[in-house]
Amino acid sequence: MKQLMLGNEAVARGLYEAGCSVISSYPGTPSTEITEYASKYDDMYSEWAPNEKVAMEVAIGASIGGKRSFCAMKHVGLNVAADPLFTVAYSGVNGGMVIAVADDPGMHSSQNEQDSRHYAIASKVPMLEPSDSSECLAFTKLAFEISERFDTPVILRLSTRIAHSQSLIETADRIVPMQKEYIKNPAKYVMMPAMAKARHVVVEKRTLDLVEYAETSTVNKVIMNNSKIGIITSGTSYQYAREALGDEASYLKLGMVNPLPIKLIQDFASKVEKLYVIEELDDIFETHCKKIGLNVVGKDIFPVIGEFSQNLIAQKMGAAINDTLSLEETIPVRPPVMCAGCPHRGMFYTLSKNKVMVSGDIGCYTLGAQAPLQSIDTTICMGASISGLHGFNKAMGEKGEKSSVAVIGDSTFMHSGITGLANIAYNNSNSTVIILDNSITGMTGHQQNPTTGYNIKGEPATKISLEKLCEAVGINRVTVVDPYDLKRCDEVVKEELAAEEPSVIIARRPCALLKSVKHKPALHVVNDSCKGCKSCMKIGCPAISIRDKKAVIDKTLCVGCGLCQSLCAFSAIHEGEEA
Ligand code: SF4
Ligand code: SF4
Repeated sequence: MKQLMLGNEAVARGLYEAGCSVISSYPGTPSTEITEYASKYDDMYSEWAPNEKVAMEVAIGASIGGKRSFCAMKHVGLNVAADPLFTVAYSGVNGGMVIAVADDPGMHSSQNEQDSRHYAIASKVPMLEPSDSSECLAFTKLAFEISERFDTPVILRLSTRIAHSQSLIETADRIVPMQKEYIKNPAKYVMMPAMAKARHVVVEKRTLDLVEYAETSTVNKVIMNNSKIGIITSGTSYQYAREALGDEASYLKLGMVNPLPIKLIQDFASKVEKLYVIEELDDIFETHCKKIGLNVVGKDIFPVIGEFSQNLIAQKMGAAINDTLSLEETIPVRPPVMCAGCPHRGMFYTLSKNKVMVSGDIGCYTLGAQAPLQSIDTTICMGASISGLHGFNKAMGEKGEKSSVAVIGDSTFMHSGITGLANIAYNNSNSTVIILDNSITGMTGHQQNPTTGYNIKGEPATKISLEKLCEAVGINRVTVVDPYDLKRCDEVVKEELAAEEPSVIIARRPCALLKSVKHKPALHVVNDSCKGCKSCMKIGCPAISIRDKKAVIDKTLCVGCGLCQSLCAFSAIHEGEEA
């Protein structure tokens, strides 16, 4: 049956049809929906793991156990999972194993723009790259076949546009292969030096076999049209090039982007007058072409930064640019802000007021860096807030210890904050860590995590106590505070910064957008009482604005959290109906 599907949903469908049995992922835009959709199929076991490394190791274990397995992550998640990736590349698989990684050219929701093809090359793992939802489904199934045929994990590379675009797919039935027998085989699965040396030989031979496969497999397609221009491309760039140049060019569309074929590319090059390589981000195909002696035009005209588009390709290649409609009016800039009633706002206000240096982390709370709070000083990667704070304080000494904190969300703390906290306790660091516990994984769209008490299907699960966990890694001072209580937040931050030992403050209040959170009625400003002092504006709530020199609260946004009320020295903000 034909259906319109998101690329991510089509990957999930591919997992189902391929008979995948075990799925473990950590959410990360733009890959999150793969596992969310997969969890709706009751025939497959799905879970959120605490981080991508754990997710990949779960998939490896399931594969060794003889079943088809899968894990998904965003590009930076693959950094976290790189350790098991490079070794499972040596050990190979038993049941087929597929790893989906979603790159984010243009950095719509990421802290960098890395090109995951480098990982496939470096780890010597085959990588497939679909160009639409239909290929997302087909390549997922093909990836399992390649995995089992060549005894290797296979990476499925997506990009934001493929993961989040819809196109037609055709569904088929689920076919579950027989579970493969697990046979003890230390030479294959115990990667000590002696075994690993032998497996490296196997990996190099496998790469040669995969190159042979890439030469003839239908996963790579030649579309011959006008022979004046030949284009080597893949993924979303193929769609853009087809739209920009149509039949005016011939195409070698690479579905397998690692390892790359040699003869197929040389043969295609021999049939066209001028050869172009169109690839988003780095010059991987181009370098390969040049290495095999071809004269190609690539990054000399196409950028290595940001997303491509139909018009960019048309412009760079001197083709006609399609007319587009543009809006005459200037639309006001709407930077992302923390939601009205966001529980993080109270703690960031407190930190900003106390002029504290804030070592930040990855999550919706990174918005605390925006005006007017401007509270966050650094953001590097998942978990870096805590370990970075420790390093900062070792460099700064007491001056740093008394005026700096780390902030990290509950999910990010479980992902990779625990080890940083253990380091603080173990290495005698007088550092203050604030866990912003909004009881959900917020930024990626409300996924459960080990501290929420629910699993991926919303069923009750073991709820890990953050307090007990912090105490267990050696922190004696653990205080829980309500971030809506500004007075108490201020007291606790001051107390813990002054303390002579490491401490953790858990600022706990569920995300204001959770369905389970019951909001209070909206507040209102009594116009005659308001002096227009703008104190209530200091928290940056999107529900408050100043009109005619008086504060106004938008009833449709306000959730009655009371933060603004506690800042008004003139008692101008009231509950109940406006008089
Ligand atoms: S009570 Fe004030 S701070 Fe809270 S949501 Fe309403 S306007 Fe915003
Ligand atoms: S803090 Fe009170 S007085 Fe000042 S602008 Fe806001 S509502 Fe008006």
